[in-house]
Amino acid sequence: MPTFITCYGGVDEIGGNKILLEDGSWRLFFDFGRSFGRYGKYFDGVFISERPQRGLLDLLALEVLPPLPGLLRNDLIPVFDPASLRVTEIPPVGRQKKPRQRVEILPRAIKAFWDYWRERFPEAFRDLRRGRRKPVDAILISHAHLDHIGDMIYVSPEIPVCGTQMTAFIGKAMSDLSNGRGSGMLSVKSRALTPDGFVGSDSEHRTSISRPWHFVDGAPPTPTLPNSHTLLDNVASFAADINPQPAPARIKLKHWPVDHSLFGAVGYAVETDSGWVAYTGDIRFTGMNQNHTRAFAEQLAALRPAALLCEGTRINGSGRVTEAQVHDNCLRAVKKASGKLIVADFSPRNVERLLTFVSIAETTNRILLVQPKDAYLLRAMHLADPAMVADVMANSHVKLHADPKARPAEWETRIRAQYESVGPAQIQKNPADYILAFSLTDIADMLDLDFLTRGETRGVYIFSNSQAYDDEQNVDLIRLWNWTQRLGLEVVGLRPRRTPRGEVIEVRPEVGFHSSGHANAEELAEFARSVNPKSLIPIHTSAPGKWAEMLKGTKIELVLPKYARPIRVD
Ligand SMILES: [Zn+2]
Repeated sequence: MPTFITCYGGVDEIGGNKILLEDGSWRLFFDFGRSFGRYGKYFDGVFISERPQRGLLDLLALEVLPPLPGLLRNDLIPVFDPASLRVTEIPPVGRQKKPRQRVEILPRAIKAFWDYWRERFPEAFRDLRRGRRKPVDAILISHAHLDHIGDMIYVSPEIPVCGTQMTAFIGKAMSDLSNGRGSGMLSVKSRALTPDGFVGSDSEHRTSISRPWHFVDGAPPTPTLPNSHTLLDNVASFAADINPQPAPARIKLKHWPVDHSLFGAVGYAVETDSGWVAYTGDIRFTGMNQNHTRAFAEQLAALRPAALLCEGTRINGSGRVTEAQVHDNCLRAVKKASGKLIVADFSPRNVERLLTFVSIAETTNRILLVQPKDAYLLRAMHLADPAMVADVMANSHVKLHADPKARPAEWETRIRAQYESVGPAQIQKNPADYILAFSLTDIADMLDLDFLTRGETRGVYIFSNSQAYDDEQNVDLIRLWNWTQRLGLEVVGLRPRRTPRGEVIEVRPEVGFHSSGHANAEELAEFARSVNPKSLIPIHTSAPGKWAEMLKGTKIELVLPKYARPIRVD
């Protein structure tokens, strides 16, 4: 049987990977991420968002999600005509006073819903239903960045998922931190229709439905505690919300850890009737695990892949900043700021960067203060793999920032009970003793200090985070710049561009304070050459055509993917 690859995301865009691989009798997806490009065309996710009461409607209508019946959840199908519903009364039980209504959608309404999308988007539509068999055998998750997992929330919970322990635990922590509104990678909350046909909460099934989850790197200890939601005492209780399952039979699958800005990242290869098909996920060669990516290339080469799905985020980038250089540059900036408070801006999920700042705190004899949410995530990552992620919070140079909350959530109360907290009143006494691990989302907390110091907080803001990839992120950087100016902070790692009248129109990171999670053009070309696949399919890039010059002189065939068009692998 021929093998087909169909990209439902990650085509001419950075992120949103949703890649279907099928081979005769089985089907799987590489990742099922949120396409921020497609989403951001219509929504900002804050003031303009998809309407949850209309379930799948908004995202299908705007082609943010591909119309894939079987894979997408039927409990998110809204109904406009009450005649499409069956409403039954359930007599009260126990302490209930009133009877409840159970609302069910009629099969013909489900059919009509999908028939509509078949007519509306015939080229992207694909009916994945296979009777009693699962529509897709597995979704292979490369890592827990949202552009790789963010649309799992719309995927039917019966579909099994494969990934690393680290990826699963990060997903669990993210879900706890957002009060159960996670990515849907581990579990989803079932929904039910209201008698008006809106998608509402499901009063019959209150607990989340866990997906079958296969740990590609071996399962953590068997969970023993039920209902361990938000508890983080040991691995077993944390793993209890994950539903471990064996790998799908029939599919020959290999995985390799790769270097990326998030731990737990892997690349995959799957054996098909047409040879091995490999998928990079996101890769780089500048972090502490750069040898992993090199080993990945070598071992893929030994498989002589028929096709390589390769990322190209920085295909137009040539700079190469290593994590070690980031350490040296940030350390120099902190030393120069002696006597002043330091605010360090980096993504807390980028644990490698966090470790960089822990080391800087040790060298300069300061205390790194992290927000409780970041401490929770760090603890989860430590539980997933103590050898990979040290118990950072146990370091005497790391403490909690007492994030002001009138009523902290349960997870936060527990984290605060476990570690020492330092609040603004204490920081104000000796600001030069601290490095605050803050970013734009926490920056309002600086106003407490500003108040206590009567506007005299003298400090240095080190921007050690990624550049803006779209307009929205550029606006955020301008906002961040405004905050630093308002708070009177000296800025390291960001440069504003101004109009002749002095208005800031763009803010760009300075080179040397951030190491990207992605390989540059030269490294990508070298990676492709050393893997030497029969064909290369560029994904996760805004300039796939650039691969043509990068592959010159090789025998690698460049196959440019088109949205939702199957590519035959021979
Ligand atoms: Zn990533």
